[in-house]
Amino acid sequence: MLIVMQAHATEEQVRAVCDKVSSLGLKAHPIPGAQRTAIGITGNQGAVEIGVFDDMAGVGEVIRVSKPYKLVSRDIKEDNTIIRFPALDASIGGQELAIMAGPCAIESREQAFTVAERVRRAGAKFFRGGAYKPRTSPYSFQGLGEEGLRIMAEVRDKFGMVIVTEAIDHESLDLVEQYADVIQIGARNMQNFSLLKKAGRAQKPVLLKRGMSATLEEFLMAAEYVMAEGNYNIILCERGVRTFADHTRNTLDLSLVPAVQRLSHLPIVVDPSHGTGKRNKVLPLSRASIAVGADGLMVEVHNDPDRALSDGPQSIFPDQFDQLMNEVRQIAGVVHRSVAAQQAVAAVR
Ligand code: PEP
Ligand code: MN
Repeated sequence: MLIVMQAHATEEQVRAVCDKVSSLGLKAHPIPGAQRTAIGITGNQGAVEIGVFDDMAGVGEVIRVSKPYKLVSRDIKEDNTIIRFPALDASIGGQELAIMAGPCAIESREQAFTVAERVRRAGAKFFRGGAYKPRTSPYSFQGLGEEGLRIMAEVRDKFGMVIVTEAIDHESLDLVEQYADVIQIGARNMQNFSLLKKAGRAQKPVLLKRGMSATLEEFLMAAEYVMAEGNYNIILCERGVRTFADHTRNTLDLSLVPAVQRLSHLPIVVDPSHGTGKRNKVLPLSRASIAVGADGLMVEVHNDPDRALSDGPQSIFPDQFDQLMNEVRQIAGVVHRSVAAQQAVAAVR
C-alpha cells in the first residue's frame, strides 16, 4: 500500500501517518518527492484497511500497489532519485553523468594511485577498485582485503574521488561501509538476500549490479530488498547477461536502461567492461550507454593491463580512457547531460 500525502502536508502529519503504520505492526517508508511525500508500507498487508488512513490529516490518496516491488517504483516517487556526495562535489542520477573508473582489483598503492591520477585528470569523479574479488577460480587473485580499502581511502583523500568497492559477504560489508563511499554488490550476489538486507541497513549508498541471468523484475526486486530495510540510496548497474553469443564475455543489455527508467526512480549506470569483456568494445559500448540514457559508466582502467591480476583483457589503457571521456562528453550534450571537466591533479610521487 502507498499513501500519497497532500503537497502541503506538514512533517507532523507525515509523522502521524508513519506512527499509525508502525502501530499496526507494519513498516513505514516516507519518501520525499519533488511535489509531495509518499509513504510506502511494507510488511504483511493482508489485514490493513484503506479507511484507516483515508481520513488522517494531510493524506491525499491511499493506493494499493499491485506490482511486486513498491519502494523502487515510480508509483511512490515520480521524480528521479539523485544521490549526492556534497563533500566531493559529485552526484549520481542528476544532470552530470557519474563516471566511475579504476582497476578491476587494487593491486598496490602505486598501481591505484597511477590509475586514479589519470582517470581523475580525465574528469572521472568516482574511483572503482576491488579489494574483495569474487573470482571464478579459487586460485585466482582474491584481492588485498582491508589493505586495498586503506589504499582506496588514501585515493579519496589525495584525489577527492568517491570510492566505490565491492562487498562480498557480511564481514567485508562492514569494512567497505567503514572505508568507502559506495558499497558495490556484485552480479554474483544480486540474489544473496541476506547480504542485500545487510546492505539495506548500511549508512552508505549501494551500487547493485545485475545478476548474470536476472530479469528486469528480479533486478528490481533485489533493489527492493535493500530499500525495504531503509536504505533508499541505490544505484543500479547493467553489466551484461549470459546469452548464446560468444563473441563477447557477456551480452550488454542496453535496452534495460530505458526499461528501468520507465518503472523506477533509481539511477542506472552501465559497465561496458564486464558487459563485453573485450578492451576494443569498451569505447563503442560506452558511447552507446550514454546515448541510450544511462546515468553514468563504470569502466575498468589499468596502467599495465597485460600484467593485471584480474580482468586485464577488458581493462583499457589510460590514454584510451582519455579518448572515451572526450567522446562521451560530446554525446552527453546531445542527451542534455554533461561530464565533469578535466581536472588538474598533482603528479603522484
Ligand atoms: C567488478 O565490478 O569488479 C565485478 C566483479 O563485476 P560483476 O559483479 O559485474 O561481475
Ligand atoms: Mn573486473
